[in-house]
Amino acid sequence: MKFLSQTFNIQTEKGPQFIDITDRVEEAARKSGIANGFAVVFSKHTTAAIRINENEPALIGDMERMLEGIAPSCAEYKHNEFAHAFSTNGERPNGHSHCQHLLLGASEAVPVMDGKLIVGQWQRIFLIELDHGREREVVVQLVGE
Ligand code: ZN
Repeated sequence: MKFLSQTFNIQTEKGPQFIDITDRVEEAARKSGIANGFAVVFSKHTTAAIRINENEPALIGDMERMLEGIAPSCAEYKHNEFAHAFSTNGERPNGHSHCQHLLLGASEAVPVMDGKLIVGQWQRIFLIELDHGREREVVVQLVGE
């Protein structure tokens, strides 16, 4: 069995922001030398998600509006009081970011076949920033033979 683990540091600029990381995952898959197996793409954050969807600018606008509709940034969240009162790391009020993340999730698994990452014609892997811009860590692990 072969195994490769890589951590990518990704600087985001704003929230929401969809960052296409498919090329980085494909490169990690090539580097691993794995013919058949899978890649797990994992965000180490509670306000930055990993999801697969189409990289089409109008659609990304639609998805950003959907997230804002589900958990509006201007709504009231108990977490925002908590963040104000107890934060030592300067966390801004971000209850909406956590609630949006709950519906998206922290990881995706993608098959590797014949040495290639298998994604459909329109499928791209996104890191989705749901809070404000900052440095994020994405772990890509490849397992197979
Ligand atoms: Zn928070």
